[in-house]
Amino acid sequence: MSEIADSPVFVPTTLAEAIQIVKRNPRIPLWAGGTWWAQGRSTPEQDDDQLEGPHGAILTLHAIRELKRVVRSEIHVDVGAAVVVARLREAGSRFLPPVLLRALERTGPPPVRNLATLGGAVCIPDQILPVTLVLQLLDTRLDLRRGGRGHTLALANFRPNPGDILTRLRIPLTEWSNWSLNSFGTIWPRGDNSLTVAAVAHVEKGSVQEFRLGLLINGETILRLREAEMDILGRPVPLTERDQRIILTPLQQHPLYGSHLDDLGRWRATGAVRQFLRRLG
Ligand SMILES: Cc1cc2nc3c(=O)[nH]c(=O)nc-3n(C[C@H](O)[C@H](O)[C@H](O)COP(=O)(O)OP(=O)(O)OC[C@H]3O[C@@H](n4cnc5c(N)ncnc54)[C@H](O)[C@@H]3O)c2cc1C
Repeated sequence: MSEIADSPVFVPTTLAEAIQIVKRNPRIPLWAGGTWWAQGRSTPEQDDDQLEGPHGAILTLHAIRELKRVVRSEIHVDVGAAVVVARLREAGSRFLPPVLLRALERTGPPPVRNLATLGGAVCIPDQILPVTLVLQLLDTRLDLRRGGRGHTLALANFRPNPGDILTRLRIPLTEWSNWSLNSFGTIWPRGDNSLTVAAVAHVEKGSVQEFRLGLLINGETILRLREAEMDILGRPVPLTERDQRIILTPLQQHPLYGSHLDDLGRWRATGAVRQFLRRLG
């Protein structure tokens, strides 16, 4: 490990070293690609009390090789938290689900994607990014370390916490015959009327075998329709107007649809979902 002289920047080269540093300084800010910090958070001292490190210290993850591996099996891919988005996009071009490849392409302009890490994208504390919505739809699980202890949880249940180090994301390599990813409004920096609609489905032997849909509203709230997702399974394609309503009606009756979307947002959400449903098959 190197601790840069007269500079409160810790540069561990192993995960074990990083864990020891975080154990001693549980509130030390972690710096992965640094692109979120760079947006008005150029020095951690400026940040809110919750994330401020001791004497402005930071811990960078870029020298930890364990966090930069991509390991693929038949059924999933394990992505180290410090894997850079552009590298993952390139390395995974032949095996990652296309909806995820598209989401990775949209994590910012090329200079940002060349620095930003997948772990940093899901750990941003003040905003949910579209790529996180997509990873949730794919049932991604996270490995985290707090002190000496590790735990695994679904991304859908994850909230970033000072003191936790995200080490790995496990992404299932499910086959999807249909997918769509539509974003409206200003995604970054977070706009008040932004909306992302993501959907994946698998159609085989003329009927819907898998279906998942998620809406990310204003970069802060995710709307899912888990019951309706189950109800549509087994329906023959192309879906009838009546079968489309299995999804559209609960969407339009969802409390968030009424309270968090304005007329334009509701029109966009319904339009994007209807278009996806009509194209199944
Ligand atoms: C100019 C610009 C344009 C952008 N445009 C877009 C866009 O169009 N679409 C989009 O989706 N996003 C956009 N972004 C956001 C960008 O995708 C995020 O800033 C990036 O994904 C964050 O990753 P990072 O590795 O740089 O994280 P960092 O800035 O290093 O960290 C982000 C947060 O995550 C925490 N963290 C990082 N790694 C870990 C870990 N392993 N364990 C625990 N906590 C961790 C950090 O402590 C910090 O709180 C843009 C950003 C910039 C600067």
